[in-house]
Amino acid sequence: MNQLTQAQIDLLLDKAQEARDRSYAPYSKYNVGAALLTADGRVYQGCNIENAGFTSTVCAERTAFFKAVYDGHRAFRAVAVIATGEELGFPCGVCRQVMAEFCDKDFVIITANRDRTKVDVSTFERLLPHSFGPRDLGV
Ligand SMILES: [Zn+2]
Repeated sequence: MNQLTQAQIDLLLDKAQEARDRSYAPYSKYNVGAALLTADGRVYQGCNIENAGFTSTVCAERTAFFKAVYDGHRAFRAVAVIATGEELGFPCGVCRQVMAEFCDKDFVIITANRDRTKVDVSTFERLLPHSFGPRDLGV
């Protein structure tokens, strides 16, 4: 099990909250920040970036993953996601599929509501059971 300490969880939530301030969400007003922890201990931040052509919008989680992958990282331990809603904002299906490419079943997914009065700590396997990934293609 890929356990994180409470201090690591708090740090990732701090970084995700910081990233949320960089969100570009003029249409939904739903600002999201993410902080992705690599296997070797680096943290990559991401925010959602909306677009007038809505399908061009990208989520905070994918922004963080793509920055990290560009820098050469391929293994990850956890991601924290914090949005502006009163309820938890779990990663969307597209982001979960990106996680399926790079994350093990015990990858930790932390979600928090806007003021962190609600926090959920889960695993990739719980949020996307029976996922399709590289192993299905023999990689
Ligand atoms: Zn998403």
